[in-house]
Amino acid sequence: MKSYDVIIAGGGAAGLSLAFHLVHSPLRSRSILIVEKDAKDQNDRTWCFWTDKATLFDSIVSRSWSQIQVLGERFEKTLDLHTYRYKMIRGIDFYRFARQALSACPQVEFLQGNVEMIEDGEQEASVLVDGQQYTGTWVFDSLFNWSAFKPDQDRYYYLQQQFLGWEIETPEQAFKPQVATFLDFRAPQEKGMHFFYVLPFSERHALVESVLCTAAPISWEACEQALRKYLATGLGIKEYCIGREERGISPLTDWPFPRQSGRRVMTIGTLGGRVKPSTGYAFLRMQEDSSAVVRSLLKMGHPFGVPDSPRRYRFFDSVMLEIMTHHGERIGSIFTTLFKRNPTERIFRFLDEVASPWENCLMIPSLPPQLLLQALLRLDAVRRV
Ligand SMILES: Cc1cc2nc3c(=O)[nH]c(=O)nc-3n(C[C@H](O)[C@H](O)[C@H](O)COP(=O)(O)OP(=O)(O)OC[C@H]3O[C@@H](n4cnc5c(N)ncnc54)[C@H](O)[C@@H]3O)c2cc1C
Repeated sequence: MKSYDVIIAGGGAAGLSLAFHLVHSPLRSRSILIVEKDAKDQNDRTWCFWTDKATLFDSIVSRSWSQIQVLGERFEKTLDLHTYRYKMIRGIDFYRFARQALSACPQVEFLQGNVEMIEDGEQEASVLVDGQQYTGTWVFDSLFNWSAFKPDQDRYYYLQQQFLGWEIETPEQAFKPQVATFLDFRAPQEKGMHFFYVLPFSERHALVESVLCTAAPISWEACEQALRKYLATGLGIKEYCIGREERGISPLTDWPFPRQSGRRVMTIGTLGGRVKPSTGYAFLRMQEDSSAVVRSLLKMGHPFGVPDSPRRYRFFDSVMLEIMTHHGERIGSIFTTLFKRNPTERIFRFLDEVASPWENCLMIPSLPPQLLLQALLRLDAVRRV
């Protein structure tokens, strides 16, 4: 049985981010084992995020936009991001970059295998990988298990955010490379909140992605049809070839994911509730969480002293999920109103959970009062805020 200071179960976004933060901290000499079942050699997703600060991964940002566009029925606005940038990292660049940097550290080991079980203990926890046991002083678990995930839906909201993206090339000029389409709500909303985004790489090359938030995912064929329709009618593109496809599902829920799943086991990433419940953005939240784990280990000698989202933001997330669940068709107009009435920086600070209480108050009039009241009553009735 081999022992490590840290074992990370799952070498995806959260697992690699945490390892990367650890080796760039005073804890760099700790021994780390990263267990991942896949080779991580596929460009399986694209991460976008907005920021006005430098990140540890700026060298692999493949595109960055200073303008974004928001579109809805009878609404179109191009927004200048001022000090912010909307940045994009390709999954494959992140996996390669993080794995190469970590492989150069002698105290970091990778193990390709299937984690079968994680067992807590008093002094250390053990991880069973393909029948072989490994122990770690701390085990970080990022293995979100869809079939085991059953939040209490009488008390909490739970939607699934379904992504289907095509990287396309067109024979004619079809995109404005300097403007990313952040949200385009010109889509039928009867199945649930549905929007598209466009990340243009050049005038003839872009990633166009459909994002649908529903109680249960629809068929991938139906997603493909919607994307095809958006390309033809929303963007007016008749001819294109698809170079790459990405698809996946992320949970959107206000269920409070426990961070401590044992004396020696901590959840991270999706399993640690790092996906923002009302938007699905997670990448930067996982970076912030990784640095909070490092700070906690340094200051307290354990990793669990990480901050939770402030109460008022958990409340706003629940209100948005309530509206998305019962009035998904109204979300498009809520977001377009938000962007009509508020400066983009305020919206970003709100979504990043760092806006002042006064800025929060300024956002509230953008919500339809009747829906807000209904949401409050329903939330009050079921628990909990
Ligand atoms: C298509 C798509 C696009 C997204 N776009 C964005 C975006 O633009 N911006 C944003 O902020 N967020 C985005 N997200 C949400 C979120 O950032 C990602 O889902 C992110 O990858 C979640 O990180 P994670 O580490 O929790 O999960 P993952 O990155 O999925 O990592 C979990 C890892 O565990 C491994 N694993 C699973 N089971 C086992 C096992 N038994 N043994 C060993 N290994 C195992 C998996 O192979 C995987 O590598 C997107 C999600 C999807 C699906």
